[in-house]
Amino acid sequence: MFMVRDPVCFMEVDENTTEYKAEYNGKTYYFCSERCMDLFKLNPSKYSSRFDFKIDENPCSRCNLCRW
Ligand SMILES: [Zn+2]
Repeated sequence: MFMVRDPVCFMEVDENTTEYKAEYNGKTYYFCSERCMDLFKLNPSKYSSRFDFKIDENPCSRCNLCRW
């Protein structure tokens, strides 16, 4: 299993099970929810540039955006 990072909320996402993904600049991004995916699609350059940090640096394990 390989966990990837939701670039919108930084939650960990399993790329094999999530249905929410988007391609941008030849790279595939995965999301925890439709809401995060939609936010990414609205402004992909903003979120993709936030994406380059290591997977263990974020203590948060929950999507703050989707908890509404
Ligand atoms: Zn999310």
